[in-house]
Amino acid sequence: METPGPPELGKERFDGNPRISVARPIPSCWIGPFCFTEVGKRNPDGSVQPEKRAMTLHDKFGRQITDLRISITDRCNFRCVYCRSADPENYRDHDEILSWPELDRLAHIFLGLGIRKIRITGGEPLVRSGVEDYIARLHALGVEDLSMTTNGHLLAERCKRLMEAGLRRINISLDSLDPAKFERITRTKSFDTVMHGIDVAQKTRLAPAKVNAVLVRGLNDDEVEAFAEFARERGVIMRFIEFMPLDADRTWTRNLVVPAAEVYQRIHARWPLVQIPHERSETARKYRFADGAPGEIGLIAPVTQPFCGHCSRIRLTADGKLRTCLFSKEDHDLRGLLREGATDADVTTYIRSVVDEKEEGHRINAPDFVPPSRTMVFIGG
Ligand code: SAM
Ligand code: SF4
Repeated sequence: METPGPPELGKERFDGNPRISVARPIPSCWIGPFCFTEVGKRNPDGSVQPEKRAMTLHDKFGRQITDLRISITDRCNFRCVYCRSADPENYRDHDEILSWPELDRLAHIFLGLGIRKIRITGGEPLVRSGVEDYIARLHALGVEDLSMTTNGHLLAERCKRLMEAGLRRINISLDSLDPAKFERITRTKSFDTVMHGIDVAQKTRLAPAKVNAVLVRGLNDDEVEAFAEFARERGVIMRFIEFMPLDADRTWTRNLVVPAAEVYQRIHARWPLVQIPHERSETARKYRFADGAPGEIGLIAPVTQPFCGHCSRIRLTADGKLRTCLFSKEDHDLRGLLREGATDADVTTYIRSVVDEKEEGHRINAPDFVPPSRTMVFIGG
């Protein structure tokens, strides 16, 4: 755990020059005597037997990879301006998307490699039917920290079942507290439905929900204080995310980014904040209100204060590509391996070789930065 000071603009700016290389599958005959972990064995109290979790996944910079974000669909019922285009986008055909059995198999392999946290995302994960059953199977496999990111549109009706299936935490996107602005941002009229979803989640064991707002200069940055007030009133964890160059319309410019340091200063001036310790690999700097009000503030600053040095995350896209960074220039085809008949040992070795080459950092701040060809909705946030 560490307790760094409040965000200071540019303090942790990343100027690295990572080497990027393509990892290739390694034939199974190269595999040494790996001791595969057994997953899914539980003690009588439901906890997973720790001695069964010997294997770990590391990259060449020594970072341990424990978090996997699984995008289960590239489809979405919203068209947020900072993510998708207004124009129709070509979804992948159904047979290009990993089937549930393929997702089950990969989850088992990743758990054997020491993955402890899984976040289900998309696109919009709740538009794919069967997600509750998948969560139940992940829970049965022994995933310690099982969470989901959703736009909240379908949450109210699905929340109970998700929780019963074993979901432990939920992030809900909400980019404006003004219904008209919410409509402009998401290109939907779902404001009331999403607010209802947040209320329902807050009455369950998923509380406190994390509410995610992507701030875009000139669009919703006037609502920082209103969002903080929302956190205090509802007892939610209000998280402000810097806009990243992952939008389909390629409108991102540095001028549109609202630095986390500014958000901190504005909220702190109105309601003094006290920092909460966080895990080194966590993306958010976390704060509570000094006056004891409920709710928390989280600041996520991938642009102005990159946290790549402690990154513990990898991503699996809906079409079965492994991505070692949001901004990876290339992804790595696990679906192909599965469908060509690779054994679990082959897949494990391939994952290890790919993760070994995880990028040192995202290079958004490098002069020659070029955004990845895949945008957020196709990667999974
Ligand atoms: N549809 C779900 C949702 O919106 O919560 C899950 C998928 S979405 C891609 C995951 C997260 O990525 C959301 O919190 C969303 O706000 C965030 N996001 C999307 N595009 C982004 C961008 N260009 N910059 C920063 N965050 C972005
Ligand atoms: Fe859909 Fe989420 Fe992207 Fe909005 S941010 S368009 S809800 S995937």
